[in-house]
Amino acid sequence: MSERNAAIVTGASRGIGKAVAIKLAENGCDVAIIYKGNEAAAEETASICREKGVDAICIKADVSVSADCKMVVKSVKEAFSKVDILVNNAGITRDNLLIKMSDEEFDQVINANLKGTFYMMRECIPMMLRSKVKKIVNISSVSGVLGNPGQANYSASKAGVIGLTKSAAREYASKKICVNAVAPGMIETDMTGSMDEKAREGVVSSIPFKEMGKAEDIANAVAFLAGNGADYITGQVLCVDGGMAI
Ligand code: NAP
Repeated sequence: MSERNAAIVTGASRGIGKAVAIKLAENGCDVAIIYKGNEAAAEETASICREKGVDAICIKADVSVSADCKMVVKSVKEAFSKVDILVNNAGITRDNLLIKMSDEEFDQVINANLKGTFYMMRECIPMMLRSKVKKIVNISSVSGVLGNPGQANYSASKAGVIGLTKSAAREYASKKICVNAVAPGMIETDMTGSMDEKAREGVVSSIPFKEMGKAEDIANAVAFLAGNGADYITGQVLCVDGGMAI
């Protein structure tokens, strides 16, 4: 078994997850990169991680499917023999006004963002009990903290992630598993890239810092919560949002 810590990062082919995987690799972790469909992007993340001198594997899985999450943890156990760090980052949006939102739009977002986080934690925690480092970081959103018009499904999923984080933190505090959440504000990724210029200007003007954040801003916060400097921190929500949630 490697002396290096083993981390799982879901949704690590692109955006925030990619930046998190690279940051954890820089910090000396072997990384399992979980992606839904974009194999080339996942392989690119993995090769950047390997350049940092660690092992990296890519696993195609849909976190909204319970059996896929079981398969992910089994594969990581075979590759790295352990799980020290879990970052639940995979997420989607299906924005619509509440009264126009379809059952499908609501369910898809809850299944990927909330149930995916639950499935991954349920599969990883039994393995983490035997690890030296025991860190879970769940990616929520400022939308889950404040709510957001047009995002009833997404806000509910991300508020759910906060509840899940706090419950798990209480449940596993005696085992010294730290479970925290990071709530990003508006971050430049594919998820926000489709906004038209007018909507973007409106959003940026509502951010106290008057600019969007970068994926690396979130990765730095995740790396802190996943590192030794956060050994006495659990059940917290760290907003990384240029002041949006003040
Ligand atoms: P993104 O650029 O759209 O990337 C999404 C990532 O998640 C991709 O790697 C994608 O894989 C993966 N993914 C999506 N559905 C999945 C599923 N069912 N199973 C496994 N992987 C799945 O998103 P992002 O902006 O980096 O967001 C990352 C996280 O931060 C999300 O949870 C999001 O809600 C949260 N967040 C983002 C912002 C923001 O402003 N960007 C703000 C607050 C919170 P493929 O590449 O294979 O499709």
